Parts: sequence; C-alpha cells; structure tokens
Amino acid sequence: MYDVIIMGAGPAGLTAAIYTGRAWLKTLILEANVVGGNAAIADWIDNYPGFPDGILGADLMENFRKQAERFGAEIRVEEVTGITEDPQGKKVTTTEGEYLARAIIIATGAQRRELGVEGEQEYLGRGVSYCATCDGAFFKDSPVAVVGGGESALKEALYLADIASQVYLVHRREGFRASQDTVDKIMKNEKIVRKLNRVIKRVEGDSLLRRVILQDVQSQAEEVLEVEGLFVSIGLVADTAFAGGLVQTEDGYIVTDDDMQTSVAGIFAAGDIRAKRMRQVASAVGDGAQAGMAVSEYLQG
Ligand code: NAP
Repeated sequence: MYDVIIMGAGPAGLTAAIYTGRAWLKTLILEANVVGGNAAIADWIDNYPGFPDGILGADLMENFRKQAERFGAEIRVEEVTGITEDPQGKKVTTTEGEYLARAIIIATGAQRRELGVEGEQEYLGRGVSYCATCDGAFFKDSPVAVVGGGESALKEALYLADIASQVYLVHRREGFRASQDTVDKIMKNEKIVRKLNRVIKRVEGDSLLRRVILQDVQSQAEEVLEVEGLFVSIGLVADTAFAGGLVQTEDGYIVTDDDMQTSVAGIFAAGDIRAKRMRQVASAVGDGAQAGMAVSEYLQG
C-alpha cells in the first residue's frame, strides 16, 4: 500500500513526487515510456527559469528525477492499464501487476497527434517520425519536411536545419502559433523553406519514404517534395483510456479544480493531461507542486 501513486514521470509527476516525498508520503511513480516525458526528448529548453543559458531537456529531467528520488520516490517503468475504486483504496493496474494507494496523481501528459494521411503509418520508422531529437540523426545531409505551425514544429525545424541538407516547413495557414523569438529564428534560417497554406496530402516511397505530396489549401494544386524524412509535429492529444471514464474529461483532457482535484475524491491530475491552455515545463511544475501539496492535505484530512 502506497500513500500516493503518481502516474507519469514528466515534469508534473516528478515535481509532485518531490512534494509528497518531503511530506514523508510513501510515493510510487509509474512511467510507461521515458522518465522525463516529452521534456526529456525536447532538444534545448530556453524558457525554464533558473538556467540563464538554457538547458538540454534530457539534463533538466535527469535533475528532476534525482531530486524526486532523493526524497524517496520509487520509479517503475510500467504502463498503467486501469484505475478502479477498491474498498482498500485506489487500485492501479499495470502491465506488470496491481498496486494500491490512498491517493493518485495522474500526470501522464499528452502524446503527439497523427496526421491521418495515406502512407503515414506505412512509412512510420522508414521516414515518418514524431520526434526530431530522437530520429533527426538518421537524416544527415538529406532533405526533410516538418509539418506543423506551433512551437514544437518550429523548434524541430530549427533542430533539423543543423543536420539535414534542407528543411521544408509545411503549415496549413500563414501565421505560426509560436513565440516571436522562435519565429524570428525560422525566418532567418536559410536552410528552412516555408511551405505555407499547404497540407500534406499523402506520403510515398519504395521501401523508404521518398516524397510527400502537398496540396495548396486555396488552389487545391498538388506539389511534390522530394524528401527522405517527414517529421509530424501538429500538436498533442490526451489519452485517458486507462481511467475508464472514472474522472470527468473535456476534449479528452482531465478537468480539475485549482487544487488539481479531479471529479473523484483522492484522484488528482497535473501537467499536460489537465484541461487548460498553457502546456509548458514551467506550468507543469506549478501543477505538480500544487497536486503534491493537495494530496498531503487530503491524506491528513
Ligand atoms: P500546438 O501549439 O497545438 O500547434 C499545433 C500546430 O499544428 C498548429 O500550428 C496547428 O495549425 C497544426 N495542426 C494541427 N492539426 C493539424 C493537422 N491535422 N494538419 C496540419 N496541421 C495541423 O502544438 P505544439 O507545437 O506541439 O505545442 C504544444 C504545447 O507545447 C503548446 O502549448 C506549446 O507552447 C508547448 N511547447 C512549448 C515549447 C517551449 O519551448 N516552450 C516547445 C514545444 C511546445 P493551426 O495553427 O492552424 O491550428
């Protein structure tokens, strides 16, 4: 029996664990994929306070992990498949077994959205990727395309511009949804060719991806881009299937109050999985701290 089980070892989950650990609560963190979450595979993080020159996402998250473990958090890499109410507490089922806790914090974050076009699944891992920092090195001196107009897509295009021979940035409209600083860097980078008002129609190739077909959203005209990689960076989707409808959601994201309390007593949510506007490491940390404090108060209460 744990005092609290935290699902997800990203910025929100690890911060919550620092707070619950410091409150002497027996804390288990369950992580399905990478400790550090999306932030650990981000390249360079420039807007997290305390690092005036910026910091590598992987290094920042390694510091979070060490700090959570210093306060006693136990981390296991297991995927949560279900949460249920049990007479003894909250029952968390994973791919490896079952755990009981007095309270739960859901901090599982959000996953990359798929395009849903012909060839995307077929060429996954053979040219199509959802992570430039993970797969960019495979495209040294080759032409690649990035699709999306948010902070992530622009950052990925900048990262890839240092590796690839040419980067096409494909976005479905004129304006970007990113910080001015990042947009300015895109405009100045001679290796990045902007393909605006265009969508990806399909992905083609032989055993490997060879080209993407674009379509102009106004004229409907098609255009062929000879590229070897396509990096899809069109936002995030939340996956709360494991919660089995137990907690209230909005567009798939979990609804909480200001204390990170969900619609079920003793189940809290923090970070990108929460229904909110801002999804940053800094805001996930704020959520995690609040959730950690709220759990301590709930268990004392
Ligand atoms: P985002 O801000 O939601 O942007 C998604 C982009 O993809 C938008 O430009 C959108 O176009 C486009 N898009 C969505 N669906 C599409 C489709 N089916 N086909 C083509 N284009 C599509 O997502 P994000 O860039 O992944 O960022 C997610 C969150 O993380 C944001 O809050 C962001 O600020 C944050 N983030 C922060 C940093 C940082 O360093 N601070 C880095 C990365 C991400 P429209 O613009 O037309 O809607």
